[in-house]
Amino acid sequence: MEKIVSLCKRRGFIFQGSEIYGGLAGTFDWGHFGVALKNNIKQSWWKKFVDGRRDMYGVDAAIIMNPKVWEASGHVAGFSDPTPDGKQFNVMFKTQVGAGEEAVTSYLRPETAQGMFVNFKNTVDAFHPKLPFGMAQIGKAFRNEIAPRDFIFRQREFEQMEIEYFVRKSDWEKYFEYWKDEMLLWMEEIGIDMSKVHEIEVGDGDRAHYSSRTVDFEFDFPFGQKELFGLAYRTDFDLKTHKLDYVDEVPTESRGSSTADAVGKKIIPHVIEPTFGIDRAILAILASAYTEDQKDGEVRGYLKLKPNIAPVICAVSPLLKNKPELVEYANTKVFAPLKEEFGRVIWDDNGNIGKRYRRQDEIGTPFCIVVDFDTLTDDSVTVRYRDTGAQDRIKVENLASYIKEKI
Ligand code: ATP
Repeated sequence: MEKIVSLCKRRGFIFQGSEIYGGLAGTFDWGHFGVALKNNIKQSWWKKFVDGRRDMYGVDAAIIMNPKVWEASGHVAGFSDPTPDGKQFNVMFKTQVGAGEEAVTSYLRPETAQGMFVNFKNTVDAFHPKLPFGMAQIGKAFRNEIAPRDFIFRQREFEQMEIEYFVRKSDWEKYFEYWKDEMLLWMEEIGIDMSKVHEIEVGDGDRAHYSSRTVDFEFDFPFGQKELFGLAYRTDFDLKTHKLDYVDEVPTESRGSSTADAVGKKIIPHVIEPTFGIDRAILAILASAYTEDQKDGEVRGYLKLKPNIAPVICAVSPLLKNKPELVEYANTKVFAPLKEEFGRVIWDDNGNIGKRYRRQDEIGTPFCIVVDFDTLTDDSVTVRYRDTGAQDRIKVENLASYIKEKI
């Protein structure tokens, strides 16, 4: 864990929040490579669960909502944790909206879910989706955690990616199983070590107030087995409490289900909710990817990140930085076109080649490309692969397609 935390700081992934003023417990700031990693994860999620489907509608709701939302959702009454002296403490962050007499007390959202429920009617009216369909959102959530700890695992400000999937009541079990599988597939896709993932059935009494079945996906973090993501059957709790319903326009016989609801009847859909914490995803990825081996007689610590989420896909180097013809070639014929094509490409000409490789290995860059004297005559470069150290000689004109194949 200390190695991961120190790598994150040293190499510009994650810093303590407000560090120069002594920090602020439970907050973190993201540096260049951390933001890149986070964006790649969000993109992968959005691509799989929103753009890759026909039944999902994106939302980006306000963080501060009408306080009535949190009364109706049950969070004002029940979103509490016990303090060390046994008192219940509501972990929602209070805030004042407006000035003077007019000011109302509201809350920073403790989950993104309610931003979707309150836009259920807007979404149905705008897009007329047929059941089953889902809403998806990525955004910040805030909890005044009593004891923030374990680096980015338990923070006071964090990010969630959530789906509310609306189904007919009779179908909930089928879709619960379906989403469980989808969640597992995506975890594998982003490079979480699946041998460290455990499915835990959450017992009666331990579930959130809105859930009648919850499966937690726990991960063997360096500090123990803890919740990574969750899957909840929220029943019709939220739509009911917000007094929302849905007009079912699909005839019973074409549903292939046993429900006898008439066409045009108002029903309250039930909800399956897959929820993903981005910060915990990143911690699980870093813990899965951090590897040490022996290279050239010394210990090498590096991140075995999947190319699709690595902050940098490739680094470009001239063999020697004081040879203008190498620098010129590397810059104009290799770096510029790759940068244009992939964006996450960096220039690295500091120190000797071995040092550059180590530096890139440490941040998880899968490919290092070196322009040498032969390049000037054969228009080929050396591409060195992070995990094995193996090198390929590739024609410059084929570089982009070579890399694309690996992403
Ligand atoms: P825990 O039991 O660890 O407090 P929770 O059961 O309260 O978590 P949920 O309400 O299910 O968590 O929140 C959904 C997801 O949001 C979690 O699976 C986790 O990935 C993420 N999450 C929750 N609280 C935090 C936090 N304080 N810091 C970072 N991520 C969090």
